[in-house]
Amino acid sequence: MVSLHQRFILTLHISVRTYRAMANVGGGAPAIGIDLGTTYSCVAVWKHNRIEIIPNDQGNRTTPSWVAFTNTEQLVSDGAKNQITKNPANTLFNVKRLIGRRFSEAMVQDDIKLLPYRVIQGPNDMPKIMVTQMENEQQFSTEEISSMILKKMKEVAEAYVGQTVKNAVITVPAYFNDSQRQATKDAATIAGLNVLRMINEPTAAAIAYGIDNMLGLTGKRNVVVFDLGGGTFDVSILTIDEVGKFEVKAVAGDTHLGGEDFDNRMVDYCVEEFKKKYEMDLTGKKRALGRLKAECEKAKRVLSYATQASVELELLHKGIDFSMTFSRAKFEELNMSYFTKCIEQLESCLADANMTKGNVEEVILVGGSTRIPKVQLMLQEFFGGKELCKNINPDEAVAYGAAVMAAKLSGDTTKMIKEMMVYDVTPLSLGIETKGDIMTVVIGRNTRVPVKKTHNFVTSEDNQTVTRMAVYQGERSKSTDNYLMGSFTVSGIPPAPKGVSVIEACSEIDDNGILTVTAKIVSTGRTEKLTVNNYGGRLSKQDVDKMMKDAEKFKVEDQQFKRKAQAYNGLDDCIYHLRKKIRSNDVPPKDLKNMQYALAETTRWLSNGRVAELEEIERRKKYLYLLSRFPFQK
Ligand code: ADP
Ligand code: MG
Repeated sequence: MVSLHQRFILTLHISVRTYRAMANVGGGAPAIGIDLGTTYSCVAVWKHNRIEIIPNDQGNRTTPSWVAFTNTEQLVSDGAKNQITKNPANTLFNVKRLIGRRFSEAMVQDDIKLLPYRVIQGPNDMPKIMVTQMENEQQFSTEEISSMILKKMKEVAEAYVGQTVKNAVITVPAYFNDSQRQATKDAATIAGLNVLRMINEPTAAAIAYGIDNMLGLTGKRNVVVFDLGGGTFDVSILTIDEVGKFEVKAVAGDTHLGGEDFDNRMVDYCVEEFKKKYEMDLTGKKRALGRLKAECEKAKRVLSYATQASVELELLHKGIDFSMTFSRAKFEELNMSYFTKCIEQLESCLADANMTKGNVEEVILVGGSTRIPKVQLMLQEFFGGKELCKNINPDEAVAYGAAVMAAKLSGDTTKMIKEMMVYDVTPLSLGIETKGDIMTVVIGRNTRVPVKKTHNFVTSEDNQTVTRMAVYQGERSKSTDNYLMGSFTVSGIPPAPKGVSVIEACSEIDDNGILTVTAKIVSTGRTEKLTVNNYGGRLSKQDVDKMMKDAEKFKVEDQQFKRKAQAYNGLDDCIYHLRKKIRSNDVPPKDLKNMQYALAETTRWLSNGRVAELEEIERRKKYLYLLSRFPFQK
């Protein structure tokens, strides 16, 4: 039985992978669009003059953004998600909520409390994820884990197009800051992808909508993209016109608001109920909390079409079966503050775009959480009962738009794609700290990107020869209330009375939303540059290179695993044939004994369940094969 079971698992493992990708290396592989979501990711490609959303090896059009480590392998997507209850400490999800953030941030600290895996403070306050494999503790950066998901999406696309894919457009929440964008880009590099462009998720969704509706479009149309997913909320206001110009007017949002938060509120409520009923606290009981969360998420989905949903868990804690019923009203009450926050963001976005509700012609819903009836209702009421646009698929629109952009950037000549123009904006103000902790804004939020601006600063003390330039992103007037992107020192300023020496700061935000700041002492021409490597909380070039190599190492291990799996399957076949031979009654007694012995021995060896060397499996396979053919036909 053991061998059969093993055979089943191994066959499954092999059959879900495809080798087509290896057959046709290089040479005109299309660029793909990847929506790297907090909970689900999606990949698409422009093919035969239309967008194809690519199904994964399970046939699903979206792939869970999950990674898990078992003692024998590394799992990504459904495989990882399905084994969480067995292996919660080594099953990673929601990593997008941590990427590009500092460990000590309050939001990170709050999230960590709810995660079943361990996150520690790494160098430069970077969060590091700890996993245990074969009793070995390993540390991963959030970029590495995200790269595993991106690599999976790359493979899904490769299996589909039959070529090695290199180029991609990757989407990020509009409200991601520079650090989160840079980290996402690094993750893509580690995954072996060349990032053609990073675009904002709601902009990508608008592209999907625009391309789909281009033919029927006359004049300009103001659209709101309301994107409420698992981890993030983004709202964008764009104008789209008939010639394919997409112009983002304003963005707003929250990189920490989404379906996950709604689930957590439900979990908190269950924990309270459990406490009331059984006087036991589930806080810190990771397994129980993990199971609760999964059930709450399911109940939440049910509440989108039913008015009641139950959460039932056998033996949740200390032998207690837990069950409770959520009404839709209760769910809404628990999460009302989040829903209200979304509407507030929408209001502020409209104000930033210099528009009123009446100017909005279309409201596009994106992200799984926009299926929540209350969210739709509030939005509809906000727009005076206006019908919301549900023509585009909320789970796929972002990848769709990313793939359109990928086609454009790789020079596709389809008229619609070639003529499309997209103008995006920066979500956050960029500022430099000046004396007295003041945030001096150099590029205001909602400025069109790419943008380059120079700003002159003067020394604040007599004979000042050194100054520190600290660069922040955010909307608060006190610089330290904003997010420190990095700092650098400008030295060698010629001594002079205060206010005389001029330092010219040049701030640039590129098409990807990534910034560079340089400072020049005007009188000497000496220049300092804030590059990605010289501030804390980022991976250095060496780190990224090393991680790329590690990822390659994983690939080799993976291939070895595949080879081994095939060998095991082969051995299984040999056992099957030997067994048949033994039953066939045409084997002389002496040989029969040998065969029976070999069969028993191999079955016992297999049931040990240990991982053998490939040579050993092959040796046994050969031996059984020879035996099963005995006596040789003359
Ligand atoms: P992300 O892009 O952040 O990964 P998605 O757009 O894929 O997120 O949305 C995933 C979120 O949507 C999850 O929190 C999921 O629970 C939620 N969701 C999916 N379907 C429904 C539904 N029918 N009702 C409520 N929430 C849903
Ligand atoms: Mg999304």
